[in-house]
Amino acid sequence: MTRLVIASGNAGKLREIGLLLQVLDIEVLPQSAFGVPEAEEPHLTFIENALAKARHASRLTGLPALADDSGICVTALGGAPGVISAHYAGEPRSDARNNEKLLAEMQAQADRRAHYHCVLVLVRHANDPQPLIAEGSWHGEILRSPRGEGGFGYDPLFLDFRLGKTGAELPPELKNRVSHRGRALAALLEKLRQSPL
Ligand code: IMP
Repeated sequence: MTRLVIASGNAGKLREIGLLLQVLDIEVLPQSAFGVPEAEEPHLTFIENALAKARHASRLTGLPALADDSGICVTALGGAPGVISAHYAGEPRSDARNNEKLLAEMQAQADRRAHYHCVLVLVRHANDPQPLIAEGSWHGEILRSPRGEGGFGYDPLFLDFRLGKTGAELPPELKNRVSHRGRALAALLEKLRQSPL
C-alpha cells in the first residue's frame, strides 16, 4: 500500500479522503502522526496555499502529501471572503461571527451569487515539479437569514437553489456528493487513476 500524508488535522476530511483513496490502495495518514505543525497560509489564492501546505508536509515527512484549501467566494464582494473564509471576522475564529459579518456586508446587495471553491494539491515529493491539482466548485446564493442546523462554516447562509436547500439542511452524504470538496476529490481520484503514485 502506498502511504500518503494529509496536510490537515480535520478528522472528517481525513475519513472522507481515506475512504475514497482506499480503492487505489493508498493509505492516508494525518500529518500530526509525524509531528508536522500546521503550515502558514499567507497567500492570496487557494492554489498557492494548498501547494504550500502539501510541500511543507512532504518536506517534513519524506512522503507524498495531499493538501486542500477552500473557502466561499461572493460575487458582489469581489470574491471575498475567499482565502480568509475561516477568519473573515478576525481571531479567535468563529463561524457565528463570520456569518454575521457576511450578512452585514451583503445587506444592501441585490446580487446574492456565491460559490464555494476547493483546490486539492498532491505532491509526490517536496520538489515535485508537476503536482496533481484538482478543483471543485459549488454554486449557490447567500440568504438574508440562516437556515438549517447541519454542516459548518457558512452552510446555514448558503442556498443551493437547484436543490432548494442550504448546506446546513442537506444530509451529509448528499452534501459530500454535490459540494466543492466532493467534486474536487472525484477529480483527484480520476487523475490518480491516470497517473498512479
Ligand atoms: P479550510 O479549507 O478547511 O481551511 O476551510 C476554509 C473555510 O472556508 C472554513 O473555515 C469555512 O469557513 C469555509 N468553508 C470551506 N468549506 C466549507 C463548507 O463546506 N461549508 C461551510 N464553510 C466552508
